[in-house]
Amino acid sequence: MAFKRDQTKNVGVDDLIMLSEVSEKALLENLKDRYKEGLIYTSIGPVLISMNPYKQLGIYGQDNINLYKGKHEFEIPPHIFKVADKAYRALKSEGENQCIIISGESGAGKTEASKYIMQYIASITGSSDEVERVKKTILESNPLLEAFGNAKTLRNNNSSRFGKYMEIQFNLAGDPEGGKITNYLLEKSRVINQTMGERNFHIFYQLLKGSSAEEKQSFCLLPPEQYSYLNKGRCYSADGIDDELSFKQTKNAMKVVGIDEKTQREIFSTLSAILLLGNVTFNAQGTGSVVSDKKLTASISNLLGVEPSLLESALVSRMISTGQGARISNYQVPQNVEQALYARDAFAKAIYSKLFDFIVRKINTSIEVKTIGKVIGVLDIYGFEIFENNSFEQFCINYVNETLQQIFIDLTLKTEQEEYVQEGIKWIPVEYINNKPCVELIEKKPIGILALLDEECLFPEGNDQTMIDKLNKHFSNNSHYSKVERQKNSQFIINHYAGKVFYNIDGFLDKNRDTLFNDLVILATSSSMSLISEIFKYVAPIETDAEQEKKNLDKFKKNGFANTSAKSYIPTDKKRPITAGFQFKNQVSSLLKSLYSCNPHYVRCIKPNENKRALEWDQEKCSEQVRYLGLYENLLVRRAGYCYRQTFTKFMRRYYMVAKSTWPKWSGDAQKGVELLLNELNIPKEEFQFGKTKIFIRNPQPLFLLEEKRTARL
Ligand code: ADP
Ligand code: MG
Repeated sequence: MAFKRDQTKNVGVDDLIMLSEVSEKALLENLKDRYKEGLIYTSIGPVLISMNPYKQLGIYGQDNINLYKGKHEFEIPPHIFKVADKAYRALKSEGENQCIIISGESGAGKTEASKYIMQYIASITGSSDEVERVKKTILESNPLLEAFGNAKTLRNNNSSRFGKYMEIQFNLAGDPEGGKITNYLLEKSRVINQTMGERNFHIFYQLLKGSSAEEKQSFCLLPPEQYSYLNKGRCYSADGIDDELSFKQTKNAMKVVGIDEKTQREIFSTLSAILLLGNVTFNAQGTGSVVSDKKLTASISNLLGVEPSLLESALVSRMISTGQGARISNYQVPQNVEQALYARDAFAKAIYSKLFDFIVRKINTSIEVKTIGKVIGVLDIYGFEIFENNSFEQFCINYVNETLQQIFIDLTLKTEQEEYVQEGIKWIPVEYINNKPCVELIEKKPIGILALLDEECLFPEGNDQTMIDKLNKHFSNNSHYSKVERQKNSQFIINHYAGKVFYNIDGFLDKNRDTLFNDLVILATSSSMSLISEIFKYVAPIETDAEQEKKNLDKFKKNGFANTSAKSYIPTDKKRPITAGFQFKNQVSSLLKSLYSCNPHYVRCIKPNENKRALEWDQEKCSEQVRYLGLYENLLVRRAGYCYRQTFTKFMRRYYMVAKSTWPKWSGDAQKGVELLLNELNIPKEEFQFGKTKIFIRNPQPLFLLEEKRTARL
């Protein structure tokens, strides 16, 4: 049964390319009118815009899944299932990797969208035992990752504090046979501190509220208010979140992904140790400090499986090595109270983020497959952020968004316009912002912001001030960079595609160095608990810059090591301490590599108001998001173009039956057939153009007509 268009209310247009007036105002007006009627989805050609309804709409059930399954894209109104179906069908029919890039600010509905995509794919694919197991693991990975990676923030009660790229791998029959999750930039500072009204990661409250009496005792658990790491935000519960119930689901999810009971207990023990670490205080003693409460550190040591005396000394002193070779000597340098607190917090953050990585690895191990099938990747990553105070985190987040925008331009706008040229189609070129120079300002070697930051971190006397002086010196002529003329200049400006952002340099060096003193690493690897020693021993494989790597390798080979493979030598870069920025840049570049090998689909999420309220529309906020998402530019490019293109042959294969002149079979020249057919249906000449091999149709109306006639014939 074909979907009848009149089954939905018709408010505004469901594809913005059909707007009669093309302006930012008309675009917003259309989104608003539809949103008020509960129509949260609108498209711009293949790009889906999704408004957060902040209420259950009842549009994600099995009946809706059936509605969207295998439908031709012009038959049905926009929906997240439509995007999922289109990606899935393209994967099957073209045999190409697909990716769905979901963007939008915090609370706009990205994670919900990604879950609907997974749910849709799981429900339309096959059901052998192994396929079922893989699907179950993929679906269960969500509550598990959310327990450890999500938190209540002021913007979203279930806010993801990490970026995620989830790839589902398909076998030849088109069924999920495996998958892989890549996580990005966990907000680990949340472990030690929260803004007023916000919480730490959900898992802590789940553990404290959901554990049994036995667990409370074994893991020395206290009420949440008694932990310094939990009481900063003065907030212990969140609307719509049942921590006790979630704890059961988390445990179940752990079981599904293959985390056994013993490891689960080690995880809980570790979480408890992290919380107690926050309560450790120090007293000044001489130039150094001592732990105030030895009973507390003893209890933490016990939970972590380490020697109490070693934990204490790793917190209040630091080993420094001098000399070289046989003359190397080690000194214990006492740390003052401030330094000891710093080490304590760094330790807590490191344990937590390594634990998070461990959980992701566990999920991956249980769904990893050796064969190479085609994938659908779903990217759920923080959108562009402009706050009052923008720090290193915003810098990294905006850098990813800048590169994603570049992919969007490359894969959507450029390819689109290149195809017109190739096919000899007349069109009006659209000027779009080329943001490559901005990406280069950030990541170019040897002189980009990240490279300079790494260099400054190597100098012992480097600090935030010397850093900003350096930036101002190097980029004074860069059109994407501006310095801030003030007495105490602690800010610099990057001119992003979405707008100017003021970054505050304070803390950049420290966050980039991301220092965890060796003493604490050595302590952790000595743990009798396999979880702790494993997570600290694990070193993530690092993808270095391919070009640099090749150069290094060539140099290496020239020096006589002819049979060295790229894998078996250590690139010079790795001898440097690995900074947070370096690591992040590597992750971004490998993400880009994956995305460029895919056929992209876009979901742009918008949050209609700041109050998490249904039906409320905040004009200013919406307009700002439309700008950050580049929707208007997107519309212009789309309008200048054609919404549909297909080779003459494929077009005839689908539509030969809609016209008398080509019915019951068309075996002549395909282009001639298309011409006869469109002519017979009285489709106005200005609605289409013939390219060299393809027919281009400007607006979707003629396609609705074609589809209707086709359905009537079948
Ligand atoms: P993001 O990942 O972009 O930060 P989420 O996907 O977590 O945002 O969405 C935030 C909240 O908004 C969800 O917890 C849910 O309450 C609501 N929400 C988002 N999308 C939908 C939807 N399609 N239908 C109903 N509620 C939604
Ligand atoms: Mg999210």
